[in-house]
Amino acid sequence: MYLGVHVSASGKIYEAVDRAASLGCTAMQIFSRNPRQWRQGGVCEEDSHEFRHRLRSSGIRVVAVHIPYLINLATSYDVLYKKSIEGYIEDMRETDMLGAQYLVTHMGSFKNSTLADGLGSFIKALNIIFRQTKDLKGVKLLLENTSGSGSWLGSTFDHHKIIFDAVEDRSRLGLCLDTAHAFAAGYDIRRPEVFDALIDEVDAKVGKGALHLVHLNDSASDCGTHIDRHDHIGKGFIGTKAFRHIVNHPGLKDAAFILETPKDTPRSDKMNLNRVRKLAG
Ligand SMILES: [Zn+2]
Repeated sequence: MYLGVHVSASGKIYEAVDRAASLGCTAMQIFSRNPRQWRQGGVCEEDSHEFRHRLRSSGIRVVAVHIPYLINLATSYDVLYKKSIEGYIEDMRETDMLGAQYLVTHMGSFKNSTLADGLGSFIKALNIIFRQTKDLKGVKLLLENTSGSGSWLGSTFDHHKIIFDAVEDRSRLGLCLDTAHAFAAGYDIRRPEVFDALIDEVDAKVGKGALHLVHLNDSASDCGTHIDRHDHIGKGFIGTKAFRHIVNHPGLKDAAFILETPKDTPRSDKMNLNRVRKLAG
């Protein structure tokens, strides 16, 4: 099992590797850019070299880079749409430079527009991005499910299916399953049979083997509330029993697990990692 946490990339980007390695992680995730602002200067060749170097001498084998909410390919605003496409292309290049396998993204929000238009914009943008990054086939773009608040795409896997079916090169796409988002969207994954059915649904809609990453989070809000609030493993509404079922699920044996749980104290990450390791035996 590949297991790790989302770590800060503040300071030099390669220090993120040290943060994850010091927690004994075998997988890690960082943001591609500051979640609250557009980029000021990208990753340079020297820093990415050092990142890859530190990675090789660590036990970390799976690296995911997460695109923050700021970037939106489903938007009807022209300026944001163009800027977002450029942002994705930059992030794809940097993901590749860092030697990371996955670029994880939410599917955007179609606010002030329609679901059909939002999906259409997203698909059109992906085709542009993939055409312009043909040399980066080693990087998979993983579409994350959402909790279904407002006009965000991705709370149902029907949205994923539409995108996977319509995009020119689906081999560039995969799926990231966030347990807290699925729960808030209405999947009562406290019941093992509901989680089993969710995995079957994903396999049926986007294809077996497309689920590469799990964002393993408990939820501080109840099932079906559409409120995205992560909690410590076993401390939220989903609970320990459900997580034992999830981390040992045969349908996830090739997936990597990343915790995006709260960091209230310096011990929080260690505590959550240890809980998951125990549950996974
Ligand atoms: Zn997530």
